[in-house]
Amino acid sequence: MCKQFVVFWVSAAIFLVSSVSVSQAGEVNVYSYRKPTLIDPMFAEFTKQTGIKINSVYAKKGMLEKLQSEGRNSPADLVFTVDIGRLSDIQKSGLTQSVDRARFAVDIPDNYMEPKGHWFGLTTRARIIVASKERVAPNAISTYEDLADPKWKGRICTRSSKHPYMIALTASMIAHHGLAGAKTWLAGLRDNLARKPQGNDRAQVKAIKEGICDIAVINHYYMANMLMDPEQVPWAEAVNVIFPNQAGRGTHMNVSGVALTKYAPNKDNAIKLMAFLASDTGQEMYAQKNAEYPVKPGIAWSDLQKSWGSFKEDSLSLAVVADNRTAAIKLADEVSYND
Ligand code: FE
Repeated sequence: MCKQFVVFWVSAAIFLVSSVSVSQAGEVNVYSYRKPTLIDPMFAEFTKQTGIKINSVYAKKGMLEKLQSEGRNSPADLVFTVDIGRLSDIQKSGLTQSVDRARFAVDIPDNYMEPKGHWFGLTTRARIIVASKERVAPNAISTYEDLADPKWKGRICTRSSKHPYMIALTASMIAHHGLAGAKTWLAGLRDNLARKPQGNDRAQVKAIKEGICDIAVINHYYMANMLMDPEQVPWAEAVNVIFPNQAGRGTHMNVSGVALTKYAPNKDNAIKLMAFLASDTGQEMYAQKNAEYPVKPGIAWSDLQKSWGSFKEDSLSLAVVADNRTAAIKLADEVSYND
């Protein structure tokens, strides 16, 4: 555990304790991997509407360990995190409790909700293919399966197969093609790599701009993020955005989501906050704020999202993706993806 992190959580714990002492009722305690700038506006609106105060603690890592060490004494009511892997890890550690699925079913599509209601998505992220405008013809690549086509040998960049985004994509390939099929695919993709897997999603786009490779796989919102950074605008402008598998099952999706903790001391208020974030108002605010897609159908998109066009999402349950994660990690080892 890094020192910076310990200091952060210690101060956070003090913050929470002092908050609890000043308010006997009407509050919710939140642990978040989401940046305050992303969620604070929704929290402020919720407090304005309900009078319920939100005490939020932000961290970059260590949430699971913190919840485990606090056990029954944890002040946390809700956890906010990104990626199905992190949501399911917290659930599988027995640190969450279910909410009434029926209450949320009008807002949250079934595939983005844990079967018993232990977590659900609040925003979705599409795992898109980006391809060089200069060196890859439009429509030359249109599916995840195409990534393994030998015609792209030496032309693809990805990050490590051990990163949660890659694990989730591989897990979805296992769900759609079986273990053997997914292994063949992953080995084919490995054989097409231009370099050893490295860097984050944006680094793959930079590598395309620099001519190191021609095709990469990234989460869609990084296109928006790059367009807001003058240094990275040329990276984003060097690629076309491709939503894979539009003629078939649709694009692989992941979520940022929320879970109610097992020992939530302010359970009723926590569920009210969950309901607010799933509502039209919460969804509109969330989606406009961070370039991710609202999980609730029918919510207006941002202009940038509209510019990419509508697309078909893979309806595969993220609970199934979560269940295939261990096998996905094993597959990546078996094909020595990162070597
Ligand atoms: Fe990300």
